[in-house]
Amino acid sequence: MFSYRHAFHAGNHADVLKHATLISVLRYMTEKPVPLTVVDTHAGAGLYRLDGDAAATSGEVEEGLQKLRSHLAQLPSPPSPLIQDYLDLVGGFNRDGSGRIYPGSPFISQRLLRESDKLKLFELHPTDTRLLEQHVAQLKAGRQVAVLREDGFEGLKKFLPPPSRRALVMMDPSYEIKSDYAKVAATIQDALKRFATGSYMVWYPVIPRPEAHDLPRRLKTLATQAQKPWLHATLTIKSGKQSVVPSGLLDGAKPQRPGLPGSGVFLIQPPYTLKAQLQEALPQLVSLLGQDRSAAFTLESGG
Ligand code: SAM
Repeated sequence: MFSYRHAFHAGNHADVLKHATLISVLRYMTEKPVPLTVVDTHAGAGLYRLDGDAAATSGEVEEGLQKLRSHLAQLPSPPSPLIQDYLDLVGGFNRDGSGRIYPGSPFISQRLLRESDKLKLFELHPTDTRLLEQHVAQLKAGRQVAVLREDGFEGLKKFLPPPSRRALVMMDPSYEIKSDYAKVAATIQDALKRFATGSYMVWYPVIPRPEAHDLPRRLKTLATQAQKPWLHATLTIKSGKQSVVPSGLLDGAKPQRPGLPGSGVFLIQPPYTLKAQLQEALPQLVSLLGQDRSAAFTLESGG
């Protein structure tokens, strides 16, 4: 049974990187009139409350979206179009100005898709699947959006290639199980065989764990073998090392949990416009969200 719930992490720094990138990719891909299919293999609940218990318990949104909003005025130059577009799109879910609602990847995608496009959402957690179904029902989007309570790694196969031969596959597992890293690589390898002209976007955590470290290297190898262009961006906001802080006379010194220090997105066949957009946005994200001297970004491409 999975324990991961994205409600605790909605709007954190990893969501900022992932969702700002997703918006840019979909803006580009929806410029061409040919219908597009978006397959979100790990969809989550779709919509989140930032004033709910989960967000308050973790406090992660304070290190991401809220910090971005509150520190924006301190930037020496206007926010990059990628950051502004992200803030505007999230703001569009909060027309009352409350900022309480946060859209996950399914709702970000749906907002950018056209009527002729399709959205396939895989989610396995029983509670989040139910929430996702309820949220999607409110959209009244009919057959445009499908929720599948199935394994997204396995289920992806049936949608490749899509009828219109244009698709974005968004793969954003919780990596709760160590085998998820290998599954991502194996699923991308299989997907590239089934549908070589598709676009693929993978999110992963930047953490001191060999599997996490290896994943972008494996994806690079797969893209290179398939002779496809790729783009890899990471955003780190703080050191991943545990710090020891005094936490009261009785407890003595307790190691403070550091939380997620950084994350990365790896894209195969990204829009050619994305690299320049990230090049402008990432230094601003480091300066807005960075917490210590470990704050940094990387951006590389190939193919
Ligand atoms: N993509 C979402 C977003 O950006 O808003 C967040 C997704 S969250 C990081 C990962 C989700 O994958 C969790 O809700 C978890 O329950 C779900 N999950 C885990 N393993 C899965 C699998 N094999 N197939 C489909 N969903 C899975």
